Amino acid sequence: MSRDVPEKLIQNVITACGSCEDCRHFIEDACLFLPELFRLHDRKREQGGGITAAEARRLADLCNLCGLCPCVDIRRGIMAGKAAYGRRDGLPFGTRMLQDVGRIGKLCGAFPRLSGLATSLPATSALIKRVLDIHPDRPLPAVPRENFDGWVRRRQVPPKHKPGHAVRKAVYFPGCTARYLFPEVARAAVEVLEACGVEVLSAVNDPDGACCGMPPLLEGDRDMALGLVSRNLRWMAEHVAAGFDLVCSCPTCGYFFKQLLREGAYYSDAYQDQTGGDGQALRIPVGMGVSGPREGNMVVLRRATYGSILQDKGQFSSLDPLQRIAVGEHAFDLGEYLASLSGEGRFPPMTRAASRRVVYYPPCHLREQKIGYPFLELLRNVPGLDVAPLTGTLNCCGMAGIMGYKKPFHQPSLQLGAPLMDKIRAHRPEAILTECLSCRLQFQHMDDIPVSHPVEVLRDSLPDADPG
Ligand code: SF4
Ligand code: SF4
Repeated sequence: MSRDVPEKLIQNVITACGSCEDCRHFIEDACLFLPELFRLHDRKREQGGGITAAEARRLADLCNLCGLCPCVDIRRGIMAGKAAYGRRDGLPFGTRMLQDVGRIGKLCGAFPRLSGLATSLPATSALIKRVLDIHPDRPLPAVPRENFDGWVRRRQVPPKHKPGHAVRKAVYFPGCTARYLFPEVARAAVEVLEACGVEVLSAVNDPDGACCGMPPLLEGDRDMALGLVSRNLRWMAEHVAAGFDLVCSCPTCGYFFKQLLREGAYYSDAYQDQTGGDGQALRIPVGMGVSGPREGNMVVLRRATYGSILQDKGQFSSLDPLQRIAVGEHAFDLGEYLASLSGEGRFPPMTRAASRRVVYYPPCHLREQKIGYPFLELLRNVPGLDVAPLTGTLNCCGMAGIMGYKKPFHQPSLQLGAPLMDKIRAHRPEAILTECLSCRLQFQHMDDIPVSHPVEVLRDSLPDADPG
């Protein structure tokens, strides 16, 4: 069917943005996709002719779903195009391997010394890069001696409850990068949550605990993304039903569970039956991207007008909509969760000083969650910490998950990240703080300034901090 032809789907996006033009200038430093879209659109308008299949394919590859552009429908259209390419053409071997972050992490975790040696020796490192189509200038991340799973297994800490407070139980979802490459971030997250009296269960305890699905989704491997999500959804929904929240230290995982997973689920028959929707009306919670007449906290729309548009027909519509809603509604960004604990008086006083000047950069998928900058508020309570926030800007580090590793996108990725790096350097910081570990890898590649997750700074400021 023509709607499944990737070139057609990408052309639809070009036509929509080309006739709108709102993003022509304001986004040009922060996005590779839209400037190229307008270049192709202008060429077609001025010189006639069409957009070749290769140009459409390359264009689709340039979007990293950072969410800085204003139109959800446009992003959905690009993702549909990528998925159609994946279905029709398959993915190159290197991309298939790179997107399976969990499998690579498990493999490296099983042989940490061997993996560490292989990634540090120039000859083996060059071979790995060639096989995976990684740019030769991009260093491979260091493999830690013990990943987060190992730490969880050897650590037996009984749950601590804050006297005088209701029990809070959370499943902590570290994301693949913290789990396998930066376990110090995941450890700090667990330690700070526990210091606030939260009973923490690490997602790695569940045999079905898997990658959130975002890397394959970005690459257009819809089947793999769907497989990962359906594995996670079952056990996550069970834990939510048992009173657990889901807490993510990776903003991309959080964005995925809170927003992408839920897309369309409120339009499903199962949800409408549950909330009193009927043949006449659709009932959708306020804040879920639709506007109209309200009844309490519900937007009520005429089914005759909107029923054919508002349907659960997205990427994950084959999965139980009520489970998707339950998980999405109980998913929290770590900073958001800690800020709420702080508001309840659960956050212990931060007594250890961290006297240094830092820049805080909120990554794209945190901004896309529209929860403000919760870590920024918490960091302001750390004694001696001088925080310069880089908020409210259309900045992107350019790494885009694994995209910056891929040979064709290495240079564009650095070009995209350069304006942000210049802004960071202008503050002469002693450290950069950001939640996103892909940003961390990019910053580490572009400069020598140390990079930390804000939760590491919070953990180190607690009285009985044990960074070991
Ligand atoms: S993303 Fe939306 S606002 Fe931006 S140019 Fe395209 S249609 Fe217009
Ligand atoms: S999601 Fe990000 S990369 Fe994709 S078109 Fe929008 S701004 Fe550009």
